[in-house]
Amino acid sequence: MPDYIDLHLHTTASDGSLTPAAVVGLARERGLKAIAVTDHDTIAGCPEAHAAGSRLGVEVICGVEISADWPKGTLHILGYFFGSFPRSLDQGLKELQDNRAKRNLEMIVKLQNLGFTVSEDDIVRASGGGQIGRPHFAKVLVEKKYVKSMEEAFDRYLGKGKPAYVEKDRLTPEETIRMIAKSGGIPVLAHPTTLGEYDSGELPQLLSRLQENGLRGIEVYYYSHTEPDTNRLLSLAQRVNLLVTGGTDFHGANLGNIQIGTGKGNLKIPYQLLMKLKNVGGLHPQT
Ligand SMILES: [Zn+2]
Ligand SMILES: [Zn+2]
Repeated sequence: MPDYIDLHLHTTASDGSLTPAAVVGLARERGLKAIAVTDHDTIAGCPEAHAAGSRLGVEVICGVEISADWPKGTLHILGYFFGSFPRSLDQGLKELQDNRAKRNLEMIVKLQNLGFTVSEDDIVRASGGGQIGRPHFAKVLVEKKYVKSMEEAFDRYLGKGKPAYVEKDRLTPEETIRMIAKSGGIPVLAHPTTLGEYDSGELPQLLSRLQENGLRGIEVYYYSHTEPDTNRLLSLAQRVNLLVTGGTDFHGANLGNIQIGTGKGNLKIPYQLLMKLKNVGGLHPQT
């Protein structure tokens, strides 16, 4: 039987429902040879996942998935680290989180100044303890009956340019890629189908711009990709000389119906892809 992997997994370190150790345990149960934990904007789950991996005999790669600022669709950059724990990235991500926390407080003050009774506790409760974003603010406004729907909350208060809006301080895709590369990681574009450029046919141009900044791969195998998507991305990767990766975006019970390793049931990601990634990783020894 060939060996399979899953290079896109979330744990309780971000918005997954299983602890890093539990994710590794499940990977072993499903017979996966290697996995990467790729939590949103944090690598805090890596040490626990590594320890569980050596205990259970599953190869564990420390990864991350960083959300970049992008007007057309969702642009996420995955980073894979093959050396020691990337301390400089950890530091950089913590600064980003501090900035985000500051932004949330500013939005609370703006809402209070508009006359709403909204506290930090309300927002934290709405987020379920995970990363806080504007949808959680909208949820609170709906719950407190200040607005009738999430949509109205955005239209009247939380949307860009509206009275409770505070400018985002996300990194650009280029900055994100450079930050990962500088910390010794391999930057990979996640699920390219969520980009406006995928539908408009402008993906090759975008890729070459990102490659100039250090992008090394694209996520070709993904739970929501159709066979035509996968084939199209596979030939594009070959044409522009990018590495191919794949993963399920498993979130445990927080994103139902997606299984670790197989996605909606038919995903098979060969170990060979990881070997190629590791060869590149070896070219950039960490300092
Ligand atoms: Zn993503
Ligand atoms: Zn993800």
